[in-house]
Amino acid sequence: MMPDRAAIARLFRTEVKRTLRQSVSLRLYSNFKIGGRADFFFAARSPQELRSSIRFARSRRLSFYVIGSGTNILFDDEGFRGLIIRNEVQGIKKLKGGRVETFCGTSLSDLVEFAAAEGLRGLEFAAGIPGTVGGAIFGNAGAFGRSVGDVLKEAVLMDGHGRDFLVDNKYFEFGYRHSSLKKRHLTLVKAVFQLKKGDREKIKAEIEKNLEERKTRHPSTKTAYAGSYFKNPIQADGTKVAAGYLLEKAGAKGLKIGDAAVFAGHANFIINLGRARARDVLLLAQELKDRVRKDFGVELDEEVVYLPAIFSMP
Ligand SMILES: Cc1cc2nc3c(=O)[nH]c(=O)nc-3n(C[C@H](O)[C@H](O)[C@H](O)COP(=O)(O)OP(=O)(O)OC[C@H]3O[C@@H](n4cnc5c(N)ncnc54)[C@H](O)[C@@H]3O)c2cc1C
Repeated sequence: MMPDRAAIARLFRTEVKRTLRQSVSLRLYSNFKIGGRADFFFAARSPQELRSSIRFARSRRLSFYVIGSGTNILFDDEGFRGLIIRNEVQGIKKLKGGRVETFCGTSLSDLVEFAAAEGLRGLEFAAGIPGTVGGAIFGNAGAFGRSVGDVLKEAVLMDGHGRDFLVDNKYFEFGYRHSSLKKRHLTLVKAVFQLKKGDREKIKAEIEKNLEERKTRHPSTKTAYAGSYFKNPIQADGTKVAAGYLLEKAGAKGLKIGDAAVFAGHANFIINLGRARARDVLLLAQELKDRVRKDFGVELDEEVVYLPAIFSMP
């Protein structure tokens, strides 16, 4: 029989030596500002804490799920039955030969800044993409035609038993907003990026240009949303068509369910006007998919990750 929650928290204290928070509102950890309560919540600040919390969950048959900054995730209205582990393991180190090593809880922006300050180029496209390095590798985050998979050399992953192993770029099978981690329940601990020597001022100018460009496309930073909701569909000839364009043509702008609404400035952004529930977002997304299928015969795929309250580990 499963021990009660208080007993689990006591055991966690003994084994992990940190407090396990109970009944934590996930909306506070999501840029969408949506989500019910997780039974348990833990912010890991060292690789050892990641390992011991994952081992703890596994040995107690508790579902667990690792998140970064919550900028690309939609939590369930019912929260999460099990343990949410927020990866806050941070740190960046310069290695030889233009390589940079970072823990995956580091913010991508910090990594971009670090590389620029070291006169290393290759990550300028990522300026302004919110979230952690781990989240960025998971979803192969990108902008301006470049993505994280283009510069990732290798990474250390952790399995469900808390064991580390090193993998190279190929392991991730990177594609457009895709990595093999979407099919595997593994945790990114550390990553090494291969960058090139460049001119510090030129790198900084490129970053500024990209940040300016983003300001014209995105809603204000205070808006509660998770970036592009759908991926841009790839056509038979291999070219991408903007999901926002198809959505706009399908009459998406102005659509709203509860407090979930299509952003007036860009039809591929679903925003939370205040009290949206995950259910509202999912219903609105379904309506958008139905319209695009009906009008263009195109099936849109979600970029935003929806985490159901009951998650069965693969
Ligand atoms: C304003 C705004 C602008 C955005 N612009 C862009 C953009 O230009 N390009 C783009 O690609 N995306 C963009 N996004 C989406 C988002 O920023 C990225 O997907 C980001 O990389 C997610 O990182 P995160 O740490 O917030 O991940 P989370 O949202 O916390 O998690 C997303 C997924 O990553 C997984 N994950 C996170 N950390 C780990 C880890 N250590 N190990 C294993 N899995 C992990 C989670 O399990 C989850 O499935 C934008 C979002 C917002 C809100």
